[in-house]
Formats: sequence, C-alpha cells, structure tokens
Amino acid sequence: MDEPRARIVIIGGGPGGYEAALVAAQLGAQVTVVDRDGLGGACVLTDCVPSKTLIATSGMMAALDGAAALGIRSGTAAATVDAPRLYSRVRALARAQSGDVAGRLAAEGVEVRSGAGRLVGPRTVAVGDAEITADIVLVATGAQPRVLPGAMPDGERILTCRQLYDLGELPQELIVVGSGVTGAEFASAYQALGSQVTLVSSRDRVLPQEDADAAMVVEDVFRRRGMTVLGRSRAMSAKPSGDGVTVTLEDGRTVRGSHCLLTVGMVPNTGGLGLEAAGITLDGGEFIPVDRVSRTTAPGVYAAGDCTGVMMLASVAAMQGRIAMWHALGEAVQPLRLSHVAMTVFTEPEIATVGVSQQAVTSGEADALVVKLPLATNARAKMQGFRVAPRASELILGVSLAVEQHLTVDQMAHTFAVYPSLSGSITEAARSLMRPADDD
Ligand SMILES: Cc1cc2nc3c(=O)[nH]c(=O)nc-3n(C[C@H](O)[C@H](O)[C@H](O)COP(=O)(O)OP(=O)(O)OC[C@H]3O[C@@H](n4cnc5c(N)ncnc54)[C@H](O)[C@@H]3O)c2cc1C
Repeated sequence: MDEPRARIVIIGGGPGGYEAALVAAQLGAQVTVVDRDGLGGACVLTDCVPSKTLIATSGMMAALDGAAALGIRSGTAAATVDAPRLYSRVRALARAQSGDVAGRLAAEGVEVRSGAGRLVGPRTVAVGDAEITADIVLVATGAQPRVLPGAMPDGERILTCRQLYDLGELPQELIVVGSGVTGAEFASAYQALGSQVTLVSSRDRVLPQEDADAAMVVEDVFRRRGMTVLGRSRAMSAKPSGDGVTVTLEDGRTVRGSHCLLTVGMVPNTGGLGLEAAGITLDGGEFIPVDRVSRTTAPGVYAAGDCTGVMMLASVAAMQGRIAMWHALGEAVQPLRLSHVAMTVFTEPEIATVGVSQQAVTSGEADALVVKLPLATNARAKMQGFRVAPRASELILGVSLAVEQHLTVDQMAHTFAVYPSLSGSITEAARSLMRPADDD
C-alpha cells in the first residue's frame, strides 16, 4: 500500500472539518476526524439545516396566505401548523443529513473517532486516553449560542436556537431577543407559522448589519403581518413567570409571552482545547486568529470555521477548511476572499448580498453606481403576485458569478435571461448601468 501523503487530524466534524477531510482524503492524506456531537456539526444537527427546514414550512404557510389573491379557493378554515410533525421532520432531516456526511467520509476512507479532542502538544491530539500524532492538525470546533447572565435558558420557556425543536408545540407568544440574522429569521418564520411574535431589538432597526433599504423592507413586512417590533429596547433579563415568561427591558418596561428565544450572538468553542500547548494565543473574543490560508500562529496547526470568528457562515467554514488542506498539502491555493462571499438572510422576504456593501458606497469607500429596480415592472413578479422578490438566495448566484469572474456590466447586460423571469431584472439592472462608449 502507498504511504499516505501526510497524517491529518481534524478536531470537529462540522462543515469546516468534514469538507477539509474530503479534500485531504482526495489528495491522498490519511485523515482522522475527531467529533464530539455528531458529523455535520452544529450546522447540520442544530443550526443551519434545522432552521432552514423550519423556514421551508413557514415559507409554505406564507405562500398559502397569498393563494386567494391568485384565484385559489382553499376551504374556509385557515391552514394551521402540526407542530409535532414539523419538529419531527426537522429532526429527521438533520439526522439524515448527518448520516449523508458520515457516508461520504466513510466512502473516502476517513477515520472518525467519537469524543472530545484536545491538543496535548504541537501536533498531538488526545481523545480520552488515546493520543494521535499528526503532521497537520485542523481545529474546527465551531461555536455555541451566547446567553445573557439574566436570562438563563431552561429549554422550556427560555430557549436558545438549539432548543426550539424539542418543544411539543408552537410557541403561542414568542419573544425573540436580538434582531440580527438569526433573530430576524426565527421571528419571520414563527410569525408565518402562526405564533404572535415580539422582536426585541437593541438597535434602531432590525438587521443592523444589512443594507438599510433591504432591512427596512423586511421590517415593514414584519409589522404588516402583525409582528411587534420593539426598537432601541435592550433586554436585561428573562424569567419564567406562571405559565409564561417575562422579559425586562433596560428602561424597566416588561414584555410577557409564552416563550422567549435568545439570539444574542455566538461564542467560539475554544476552551479546554489545549491550544496553549500548541503555542496558540486566542484573541480578545477567544477566537483562534488565522490568516487567509487558515494558518494559526503555530506551525502545522490550522483552524477553520466559527471558532476563528472570520465570518460565521457554513460556506465560509467549508472554504476555510478546504483552503487549509490545499495549503497544508502543497496544492495551488487562492487565499480566502471575504468580499466574494454570497450570503442570505432567510427572512420572508429574503435579503441576499455579495460584493461591496451599500454602506461602503454611501461612505465613499467604494466607487460604484447604484441602481434600484422595482419589481412592479417585472412581468413574472406580477403573474406570481410578488411585491418583493422571493428566493433572493437563488437569484444571487448570477451576481455572485459576476463578482467572482469580474464580469462587466456590458457582459451581464448581453447575457440572455429567460422571459418572463425574476432573474430578468438582474440583466435589466445591468442594462440600465450601461453607458454609451463616448462616455468612457
Ligand atoms: C440558527 C442558525 C442558522 C444558521 N444558518 C446558516 C445558513 O443558513 N447558512 C450559513 O452559511 N450558515 C448558517 N449558520 C452558521 C453555520 O451554522 C456555522 O457557520 C457553521 O456551523 C460553522 O461550521 P463549523 O464547522 O465551524 O462548526 P460547527 O458546525 O459548529 O461544527 C463544529 C463541530 O465540532 C464539534 N466539537 C466542538 N469541540 C470539540 C472537541 N473538543 N472535540 C471534538 N469535537 C468538537 C462540535 O460538537 C461540532 O460538531 C447558522 C447558524 C445558526 C446558529
């Protein structure tokens, strides 16, 4: 049998870890993945996959809401959600996806060890009493939901986003604390599923990191659908009271609900990993500092994903992991380019972004022309009864391709789009940015 190209040990089986394992195995390395909680990681088992599965149902509910306007008579009773069935679908789908990851790793000959891994030397990983020596170690241990000192999750009334799927029912009155991406997504989903939602935001508006125009559209839709959005309201505590929960705000106001969901950020899983033993100093936020090819400060030790805090997205974690392996195994590698990351806020409607931000354009940091195209003139949108474009997560690919491949406005404008289609608005936007050759 051929000697392996290198021995690689990966701590963490989420997208940062398993995608790296697949690349390393393909390149002929001997790969071991050490994972504590299940392959696919939090991404597959508790975070990204379950939340998007829940959102598939809430999206269907929102679509049913608009059915009458399209000439559909659907009985007198409004559709309602079968919560136990919904949650069991979410859990089953997550388990199946985790099984798929396990199958792919097994097919590539990757060894998987269950348990918590920790570094006990620059290139030695311990799992329980066993020690594995490696040429290269990749740390991809992810992150977990941050909790507030005055709002300890109990899994019944006060919940993190990982505890929702164990509820036997839909929360009747859900208070969502935090209006970043996760908070906005769950607020949007539960409102559509039939919960009465109150969104508590410490900032002026929801989704403060997103393009202001897009965030305002989402906030308007939230309010129109009956959600209570409390802006400039910092939650200080959440306590169970009677058969519900009371959230107290900084200014003394209180909000009552049946359940409270905390979405106040994530903290990296970097404690107890023996990083010091490998010569790694964490940054102030306890993240593992890495460069654009995922190297830590310790030779031979790479890190990828949420534990690095670079950009907490599954796609970024996976790319960091792959880049780490390409680099470690001496392949040609393009360093991570954050300005090329396409991302989506899966609210209803969705917001998708890639490239420079509107804020960078407004502040003069990026030199760009702005074009806004109301969907009201798009024939497909009219036929479908859309007032805002759905599935921005799918529409963004064309723009993402343009950013990645440095396409010009002219090239986009000359690209055929199907008629009628929502993506036709993207080529139309490109056409509206074309200038006569004399203007150059
Ligand atoms: C509610 C929610 C929704 C999200 N939706 C999206 C989305 O739609 N799109 C998107 O791109 N991103 C989304 N994300 C972010 C995405 O889930 C993360 O960016 C992604 O999971 C990061 O992958 P990772 O490999 O770094 O970590 P994880 O997926 O967290 O995997 C890390 C794994 O390492 C294991 N581990 C930890 N410590 C040890 C140890 N000492 N030994 C062994 N194993 C260990 C953990 O148990 C876990 O299995 C969402 C996040 C949340 C919270």
